[in-house]
Amino acid sequence: MPKIAGSCLCGSVRYSSAAEPAMTAVCHCENCQRQTGTAFSIIVGIAADSLEFEGDDNLGEFLDQGETGGAVRRRFCRNCGSPILSLVESAPGLGFIKAGTLEDRSWLNPTMHIWCDTAQPWVEISDDAVKIPRNPTT
Ligand SMILES: [Zn+2]
Ligand SMILES: [Zn+2]
Repeated sequence: MPKIAGSCLCGSVRYSSAAEPAMTAVCHCENCQRQTGTAFSIIVGIAADSLEFEGDDNLGEFLDQGETGGAVRRRFCRNCGSPILSLVESAPGLGFIKAGTLEDRSWLNPTMHIWCDTAQPWVEISDDAVKIPRNPTT
């Protein structure tokens, strides 16, 4: 099974990619906290044109903005609401998969944390992780 294969909660949207992930990060921004309903999102960057979707007519899109106004297209399953993919104007060519939708999440082990400025005080980030106060690209 490729590393990048997954689906939303109801299973109507599925995706896969044969490409190797470019990066994995934990994002503590306020918008990810709201969108995911929890304290952060875990994202995997992958070449957007390598992603193949099934059921993508069920994908809805919320047009969000990054800190400096660039578009952040947050795509989710219209049926069950699972956030699946974000396309970020300031990171062209990459798609950011919400890692909780992967079939196999055991390999993730994210070591980069972005938007640490808005991380919840009770979230522990290991001392040897890369900690970025905001987002270097937006
Ligand atoms: Zn769904
Ligand atoms: Zn975020």
